[in-house]
Amino acid sequence: METPANQTPAAPNLAPHIALVTGAGRGIGRAIAQQLSAAGARVVLSARSERELNETAAAIRDAGGDAACVVCDLSDRSQSSTLVSAANDQFGPIDILVNNAGVGSASDPRPLADYRDEFWDLSLEVNLTAPYVLSKGVLPAMRHARWGRIITIASINGKQANLHAGAYAATKHGVIGLMRTLALEHAAEGITVNCICPGPVKTAMNDIRIRYDAERLGRDLAEHEAGLTPIGGRLDPDDIAAMAVYLASDSARMITGQSYNIDGGRCMF
Ligand code: NAD
Repeated sequence: METPANQTPAAPNLAPHIALVTGAGRGIGRAIAQQLSAAGARVVLSARSERELNETAAAIRDAGGDAACVVCDLSDRSQSSTLVSAANDQFGPIDILVNNAGVGSASDPRPLADYRDEFWDLSLEVNLTAPYVLSKGVLPAMRHARWGRIITIASINGKQANLHAGAYAATKHGVIGLMRTLALEHAAEGITVNCICPGPVKTAMNDIRIRYDAERLGRDLAEHEAGLTPIGGRLDPDDIAAMAVYLASDSARMITGQSYNIDGGRCMF
């Protein structure tokens, strides 16, 4: 049935907002940066690799958007604590922060009893402390403008455990708690704070994890992948980015403190 013209939902318009997306060089972060730009935001891209950042920026500019790059290693507190001011210098104050960069469990999967403290510390710094530092950094301008969006890419492992992923699950559970606190503290100031909890998404990070699990379980990789979600297979980064655009838009102004699973039906709470 045809939708009457007066009922066509308006596409989100994020102009004149300015977004900072961490981990924007590839994977989910790149897709989010591209979709925010397509919706009208100017985007500051951050990651460790200048080459990957330039690739994302070129794709955005080719599509007619505005993008700037700031190289930053979020495992180094002295770099994360200056990222927001460097980002503000590009187009003006950041009013959409997307905490996307993360260290995955598959970089060093093992039971907690055998954990390396260095990997624990790295996971905490990038997955939990960096979102804390960056959120603190963007809040003054958002409070002044009485408008802001903080969107954090957590994980379904922020709600349920996964074998040999102790630091990942702990940091993703932790970041959901951190974002809920921020949501409450700034709810009356026009600032919303939400998490997106992806299930398995086709990215470099998850490629390693599914290979690890398929080997561990003695399964064929393709069969393992096909059974990862009730809908079937893995998600695409764009499936996650669409929710980020929605949460950034004015249509989502009454949504705060939430953590949305986008996971093909894998986690239902
Ligand atoms: P990816 O490996 O493709 O991208 C991770 C990004 O984080 C990269 O841009 C990388 O440069 C950046 N990053 C990692 N360490 C960093 C550091 N020290 N400093 C700065 N940047 C750093 O992975 P992805 O799957 O796109 O992951 C993006 C986010 O989504 C992560 O927070 C991840 O935990 C989350 N997530 C991914 C999946 C999945 O299945 N892919 C599932 C749930 C949650």
